[in-house]
Amino acid sequence: MKHVCVVGAGVIGSATALALAREGIEVTLVDAADRPGQGASRANGAQLSYSYVEPLATPAALRALPGWLLSRDSPLSWQPRWQASHWRWLAAFIGACSQARVQQTTEVLLRLSFLSRDVLARWQHEHPLGVQVRQAGKLVIHRDPAKRDAAQRQVDWQARFGCRQLLLDADACRQREPALAHDRAPIAFGIWTPDEAVTDAQQLSRALAEASRARWRMDTRVAGFVQRDGRVQALRCVSAGGAEREIEADAFVVAAGPGAAALLQPLGIQLPIEPIKGYSISLQVANAARAPQVSVTDAARKLVYARLGEQVRIAGFAELRGADLRIDPRRIAAMLQAATDTFPGAFQTGDPQPWAGLRPATPGSRPLIGPTRVGGLWLNTGHGALGLTLACGSAWLLAQLMQGRSVPIDASPFKLAS
Ligand SMILES: Cc1cc2nc3c(=O)[nH]c(=O)nc-3n(C[C@H](O)[C@H](O)[C@H](O)COP(=O)(O)OP(=O)(O)OC[C@H]3O[C@@H](n4cnc5c(N)ncnc54)[C@H](O)[C@@H]3O)c2cc1C
Repeated sequence: MKHVCVVGAGVIGSATALALAREGIEVTLVDAADRPGQGASRANGAQLSYSYVEPLATPAALRALPGWLLSRDSPLSWQPRWQASHWRWLAAFIGACSQARVQQTTEVLLRLSFLSRDVLARWQHEHPLGVQVRQAGKLVIHRDPAKRDAAQRQVDWQARFGCRQLLLDADACRQREPALAHDRAPIAFGIWTPDEAVTDAQQLSRALAEASRARWRMDTRVAGFVQRDGRVQALRCVSAGGAEREIEADAFVVAAGPGAAALLQPLGIQLPIEPIKGYSISLQVANAARAPQVSVTDAARKLVYARLGEQVRIAGFAELRGADLRIDPRRIAAMLQAATDTFPGAFQTGDPQPWAGLRPATPGSRPLIGPTRVGGLWLNTGHGALGLTLACGSAWLLAQLMQGRSVPIDASPFKLAS
């Protein structure tokens, strides 16, 4: 395999380009956007959440679902669509909400996330990525004391896979993050994970794409595939100016995030991926002593806070409304309110830089990494809420699989069922 073409220059495609290039493979990176990191990877929550990989589909989520859907202020919203794939996805999501399945998925995702942490560390050491990856530690604050026992059980269970986590009382939470001293809502307890890190996903995407020395084909939309003898031979592409061209390669990787399902449908490949919209704001720090340094997750409000230099990125919400990127001002107002309640006086709120992105989510939160039934066509997509966290491990794993090498973790849970 001499030349591979990667479709999608988000954090997954850019990491894939570098993983392949490190194997001595010539790489072409194609994206409809004008530069890497413009899709879901642009202004996401910035969390490298290696120990928080529990799937979205859990028994607790299933129980809470009716209440969430009926409440106007709920972090989750849903607009039914009359598409068979949408209902198949929902049925599979509900089917995945069993405790046994949650534990299996958490275990396989922990292995992938730890692999990702190791691969990113190696790449940072061996390439001048020039991106700050800060081991900020993560503090998940809980407002409901009744959740304490379940949280402790989860911490104990995850410890056997190598997660280092500690349950803290409210005072200890405020010692870990002194900016929480001004929080207007009471804290019941928290979980502290010292190994978690933060980084800017857009900058990382670009740095990975540059380090790969791939041939970039930006402003280029992939409209379809040219197949011969059951193998993909080329991509059919359209440039921003409308010019059509084909790009040939020995193999192709679809890393098109929320765009992957539509791209593969004409080949008869049904990817179980739903776009789940989320929002972020990025606030300039006004008073450094009042802004968080550690990465904070407010479990009750389902919001994450990450300090990126002089800004704090706040992200959250989950909307199943198709590929609609419109920004709902009520979501932005809710995030601003939560940020000023939790860290009063910390931020300038005049220019919150509102952003919305689509998480490419599979029903059970397992990404799709591996071959398809079409020759020469591979997948690295469906990373849902964890694409930044899992990018480097997923990319490395795929590059090994494409070369027929054995891998240190079981890759079968990530294979698309044919
Ligand atoms: C609000 C929010 C917060 C999040 N926070 C975190 C977090 O804190 N930590 C974490 O780990 N993850 C987080 N995520 C998830 C993470 O952002 C995604 O999983 C990740 O960005 C997916 O990367 P990707 O490369 O697969 O997709 P994308 O970044 O969307 O990249 C796909 C690319 O494919 C291109 N493309 C699609 N179709 C075509 C086509 N036909 N032709 C050419 N190009 C095409 C697109 O232009 C795009 O650039 C968050 C997501 C959201 C929305």
